[in-house]
Amino acid sequence: MNQRIDHTLRGSWTSAPAAEAHLPPHALRWLRTRTGLGTAITPAAPGSVLAVGDSQLGAGARAALVDVVGEAQVLVDRDSRLGRAGGLSYVDLMRRRGAGELDVPDAVVLPADPEQVQRVLEVCVEHDIAVVPFGGGTSVVGGVNALRGNKSAVISLDLVHLDQLVSVDPISRTAVFRAGVRAPDAERLLAAHGFTLGHFPQSFERATLGGFAVTRSSGQASAGYGRFEEMVIGVRMATPQGEMRLGGVPASAAGPDLKRLVIGSEGLFGVVTELTLRVRPAPRVKHYEGFVLDGWERAADAVRELAQGKALADVTRLSDVDETEVSFELSGGWKVKALKAYLRARGVAEPCMLVLGWETGSPRELATRRAAALSKLKRFRPVALGRALGETWRKGRFNGPRQRDVLLDAGVCVETLETAATWNDLTALRTAVRGALIDSLGAQGKSPVVMCHISHAYETGASLYFTTLNPRSAEDPLGQWQRAKVAACEAIVRHSGTISHHHAVGVDHAPWLGAEIGDLGLEVLRAVKQRLDPTGVLNPGKLVGDAKPRP
Ligand SMILES: Cc1cc2nc3c(=O)[nH]c(=O)nc-3n(C[C@H](O)[C@H](O)[C@H](O)COP(=O)(O)OP(=O)(O)OC[C@H]3O[C@@H](n4cnc5c(N)ncnc54)[C@H](O)[C@@H]3O)c2cc1C
Repeated sequence: MNQRIDHTLRGSWTSAPAAEAHLPPHALRWLRTRTGLGTAITPAAPGSVLAVGDSQLGAGARAALVDVVGEAQVLVDRDSRLGRAGGLSYVDLMRRRGAGELDVPDAVVLPADPEQVQRVLEVCVEHDIAVVPFGGGTSVVGGVNALRGNKSAVISLDLVHLDQLVSVDPISRTAVFRAGVRAPDAERLLAAHGFTLGHFPQSFERATLGGFAVTRSSGQASAGYGRFEEMVIGVRMATPQGEMRLGGVPASAAGPDLKRLVIGSEGLFGVVTELTLRVRPAPRVKHYEGFVLDGWERAADAVRELAQGKALADVTRLSDVDETEVSFELSGGWKVKALKAYLRARGVAEPCMLVLGWETGSPRELATRRAAALSKLKRFRPVALGRALGETWRKGRFNGPRQRDVLLDAGVCVETLETAATWNDLTALRTAVRGALIDSLGAQGKSPVVMCHISHAYETGASLYFTTLNPRSAEDPLGQWQRAKVAACEAIVRHSGTISHHHAVGVDHAPWLGAEIGDLGLEVLRAVKQRLDPTGVLNPGKLVGDAKPRP
């Protein structure tokens, strides 16, 4: 059993010091010039200064939980509870820095296997205790915030001990995992059998397979390996009404696909304990390279051409002009001025960086697929920047969260949000969301940095992922971002985008779910929840919970 229990108190991705965080000093200097950011450093508060109330877990409930999982697996100490008090959104991180009240669970319960998960749920129903399933805790939409709803206590159900690869079927190319396996462990365990999942979201280092399934996660190589939901062949889920086992065959016409109700259910219908996943042979050849295209609309057209011509690279990632500029400035190793001059000389007025990455079984397969993509790109006159740019991106692909910690220390309000739309709506959607963010976050004549990229492309459309950087308000750091987020969500709804392409709904997007699936759709989801969780112990306040009305 894996005893690695992570108490993340600092309000950060990692305890790595700033020097290891890959944010060169010149990048901060650039940000100060560009946004008017001051020079004050505001390091995260130590966990000891944060307000944590006493545990409200009653003695009877605690004894019943101990009976199921053992004394050592019911934690009520301050650090354990604080370590599960929220996920990793900007608001969560700022709360851990003392900017607002934290939702702290009354206890952390660590079941050993699916049977114990089932029995913990039964105890929680009996004692009317809210349950927040906790995977990697990387939710950026309030998904793991320990909300108690109308219950007297709330536990964080940490699945860290459900960390086994149960079996691999090399003939069918499937693998059965317990739901608490973290992504790097899944890759390590599969590598021993010559397989990969190919799911590499930016939260890869910490997130779990169960978390990926219930949030409908999408990894950076989604063009090649698909979204996580496409990898799920079967699920096992503990619910207050008993266990459900769904799927397991490659395809079926046996009525509506109930497995799909579990995928994306965000811990409201039950706790996913086991997953049967499609696996693929581990790639033998990896090739990443970078290009620059001129102008966002033209560059987005190029990605559409790749998607519709079935020539996408496994990783296909297009940055807009702002994100390209920031990437060049942050990368440190690049001779930024020389690069800009080179691009100008090549007639590129508005550089948009395109990273293409192939992960293939042989050099020949790489050559064929690469040639197909480059022939489609040709008419968009890409400027090739070579493998160094691609490799720089690949090596730094998981550094974002660490850079965010340094930016928070430097007084930056830094956050991301994402959506998706059809190709026809994409440009208007990007313009509207960008405008909403700039209007809300700009202050005293200074413009925030608002950047955008496409990292998941489909035949019919693509995702848009926005990152904002601006000086943080000392008086109201949470309100400053929350107002911008509301403006952006309203723009998304107005311009036919989805409220989430891969971050899920959680608490933060719940007010807009109705706009996407309609009141009847909300009622259907609530009816399913009522059947599986009649007393409402599972994840109150999330997805279809007590969504506050839209502003
Ligand atoms: C820096 C950063 C980068 C990110 N990049 C990406 C990205 O590239 N792509 C992407 O898709 N997402 C990304 N995310 C979002 C996040 O990582 C995903 O939502 C991920 O799928 C959550 O997995 P987790 O194990 O951390 O789940 P958690 O955060 O622990 O939980 C997420 C939700 O699922 C519920 N839950 C967790 N496990 C279970 C289970 N076994 N059964 C039932 N309910 C459960 C929780 O209660 C919660 O509501 C990013 C997040 C961060 C912080």
